[in-house]
Amino acid sequence: MHHSEIINQLAEERAQYFNAVSPPIVQTSNFVFDDFASLRAAFEDEMSAYLYTRGMNPTVNMLRQKLAALDEAEDCLVLNSGASAIFCAVVPQLRAGDHVVSVHKPYTWAWKLFDNILPRFDISTTYVDGTDIKNFEAALRPNTKLIYLESPNSLTFELQDLEAVAKLAKTRGIITVIDNSYCTPLYQKPHRFGIDLCLQSATKYISGHSDTVAGVLTGSRAMIKKIFDHEAQNTGAFVSPFNAWLLLRGLRTLPIRLRHISESTVRVVDFLKNHPKIEKVFFPFDPDFPQYALAQKQMTGACGLVTISLKATRYEDFELFVKNLKYFLLAVSWGGHESLVMPKCAGIAPQNFDPYNPEHRLVRLYIGLEEVEELIEDLNQALNPLDV
Ligand SMILES: *Cc1c(COP(=O)(O)O)cnc(C)c1O
Repeated sequence: MHHSEIINQLAEERAQYFNAVSPPIVQTSNFVFDDFASLRAAFEDEMSAYLYTRGMNPTVNMLRQKLAALDEAEDCLVLNSGASAIFCAVVPQLRAGDHVVSVHKPYTWAWKLFDNILPRFDISTTYVDGTDIKNFEAALRPNTKLIYLESPNSLTFELQDLEAVAKLAKTRGIITVIDNSYCTPLYQKPHRFGIDLCLQSATKYISGHSDTVAGVLTGSRAMIKKIFDHEAQNTGAFVSPFNAWLLLRGLRTLPIRLRHISESTVRVVDFLKNHPKIEKVFFPFDPDFPQYALAQKQMTGACGLVTISLKATRYEDFELFVKNLKYFLLAVSWGGHESLVMPKCAGIAPQNFDPYNPEHRLVRLYIGLEEVEELIEDLNQALNPLDV
């Protein structure tokens, strides 16, 4: 099914709500039953019924069907954050004594789960440089039950070879999980490569308007149902009907927003690569990117994140650069309408800033929906005064 059909047609049941074009927000906590038999059936399989909104709700269900189809997955859960999607993907696969192999520097709330929570249950994690499949192979142990991927990551965009990792995992009966937030299902379909569970922060591109926090988790019906019945219910992790409705609304324009952002970002990258105050530009669809060939193989597009390394060596220069920017707002996250800037050193106290540490000089930009000429002009006037 083409994404246009999924986004605009699939799971729309307009005859059930006065032929309204826009679906209703079914803002209810519980649902009424006509008889014992139908209530009992709902208790037995809550995922296939409307019993109580912590479990299933019609507005959420419409979104769930669309997001499953976009990922080419059998089923999907829509959760109240990307962080809960990470939790609900990882925890069900593990028991005391197990071992996890994760790509190094995964998203904050993934490594905090691996480092702070799982060790309390005697589960350990080994981090590997995911750019070489041999590192995964070397890290596997007899008790390895899960491989955790994030491809590309959202700062320097290292990729993992999804097909190779999935193949390796299958030979050992290991579950694979990927954080696909950067690509969204429009630019990468991890299940095609054999990855078991695919998650994304819907806060980013699915919402697209910086007004909702949510997460998506897709996989086989059996795996998703098990997660629905246990970890997701137990943590009450499902998205609310109102936020699901905002995400349905965001989803309508996902393809056009991504196309605009991708086109703008390529032009911004061209500009940045030729700017004298910039040392290096990180962008996975740049032919100079070390894993360009792999990016071309497994991704069909690159989005609005681009990271630069400034030649500047003084903390004040980074502050000045950000202060000079008019369109790029200093804020975490990305995927919304507004362009953003996030210097690595903004999270480091000035006395701990080390100009010889290349990481400290990284500045992540997010290209939003503004006119690209305006964004380039903004970057230019903010970069030029820097003393390097
Ligand atoms: C934002 C983000 C998450 C977490 O999603 P939330 O919706 O903020 O909980 C996970 N992974 C990546 C790569 C992200 O950027």
